[in-house]
Amino acid sequence: MAKATHIVIVSCPGFGHLVPIIEFSKQLVKHHPNFHVTCIIPSLDSPPESSEAYLRSLPSFIDFVFLPPVSKEQLPQGTFLGHQIELTISHSLPAIHEILKTLSAKVTLSALVVDILAFRALEFAKEFNALSYFYFPSSAMVLSLLLHLPKLDEEVSVSVSGEFKELKEPIKLPGCVPILEVDLPETIRNRSGEYYQDLLKRSEQMVLTDGIIINTFLEMESGAIRALEESENWKIRLYPVGPITQKGSIDESDECLRWLDKQPPCSVLYVSFGSGGTLSQHQINELALGLELSGQRFMWVLKAPSNSASAAYLEAAKEDPLQFLPSGFLERTKEKGLVVDSWAPQVQVLSHNSVGGFLSHCGWNSILESVKEGVPLITWPLFAEQKMNAVILADELKVALRPKVNDNGIVEKGEIANVIKCLMEGEQGKGMRERMKNLKNSAANALKDGSSTKTLSQLASQLENWSGN
Ligand code: UDP
Repeated sequence: MAKATHIVIVSCPGFGHLVPIIEFSKQLVKHHPNFHVTCIIPSLDSPPESSEAYLRSLPSFIDFVFLPPVSKEQLPQGTFLGHQIELTISHSLPAIHEILKTLSAKVTLSALVVDILAFRALEFAKEFNALSYFYFPSSAMVLSLLLHLPKLDEEVSVSVSGEFKELKEPIKLPGCVPILEVDLPETIRNRSGEYYQDLLKRSEQMVLTDGIIINTFLEMESGAIRALEESENWKIRLYPVGPITQKGSIDESDECLRWLDKQPPCSVLYVSFGSGGTLSQHQINELALGLELSGQRFMWVLKAPSNSASAAYLEAAKEDPLQFLPSGFLERTKEKGLVVDSWAPQVQVLSHNSVGGFLSHCGWNSILESVKEGVPLITWPLFAEQKMNAVILADELKVALRPKVNDNGIVEKGEIANVIKCLMEGEQGKGMRERMKNLKNSAANALKDGSSTKTLSQLASQLENWSGN
């Protein structure tokens, strides 16, 4: 029997980061049974119910090591979500090191694969003589932005105010559609922010690893992927292995699925802002009225309002969100809509044949899930890199509509109703559905025996052939 290849994976807290890297681990073992994977799972306080439920269903063929949770009290007040996650990893480094030490005393470690937000753990790869990989759970365009950041930074630094908004032209990353400054992540728009300097450093580190594994696929982002691979600025090995998404178990009695069973094919707009995205009270009112005005069927996963869009990511919900809907809304829309409290089995919902559109906050996992099911979207980005994801969907792939946001940052009910009607029953929507169907087929091929499966095999060979020298 061939000698086992040992790989250690470091995930990070937050459903949208935790799930894809663990699903990637499953793929690796499924395709290459002589791989032995150990997943190290750090957490911040006790994980929310969504993550807990996922963690309860982990497969037995992978070893999981849960680290003692880091407490929020150990972190500085007021840090944003991504930074909180990174700090959790920093606090967990001694525990991660200890596990690597124990493991390496027993077996030869082939590789350390860490989520991009767990990047600090990668410093141990050298000590344990293992190959080092980043797992990037977002698009090739966002990766391109990060890798080009030092160069962009130089260009911006000579402008009058030294801010990205000074740039006269949209940013043109090789192989990608142009991006407006307003669509960049806030952490990059704010060049004087403390976190910006960290991103610059990370960008330099990323090209020094043995590879970047990325959850996208060639047919979806061919321009960006090719340009990254062929760039003369660096020599990175890029492994696009996506779309890797959670499977989710089917619960026949689930209220959402039973309700969908009763709706006509392709008639329902699914509305969700990810595992923790939240809207303000004002925006919840406008969205409710817009859905009503559109006259279309909908399923809306609602979370209690907050003025911070990432409020619900690392915390369990406390309030009943339905009390925040406009008065009489539930009664008036009961024939057409279902409002779900905080969580729906999204993968199953998107695969249901009654669902014809997805109004999404454009988290990368949601996008890939929608692509896999061939469901066109309405983009409603909230924070992080979500606006860039919206640009890919609307401007590059042309499989989504992007509603206009007014000067106060609100999408108004009239705009919402128009965009929904356009997607669900308009000519433009028809074209998007057609293009989405093609993309769905490409995704299925990439995973069956096409580009992503081949890439995974190449990665596996690199790991197997590593002799530690
Ligand atoms: N999700 C779900 N039910 C919900 C909301 C989200 O199953 O009600 C899952 C969704 O299927 C996806 C993940 O949570 O796998 C959200 O990841 P994404 O990257 O889209 O957004 P994030 O939550 O990280 O902002």
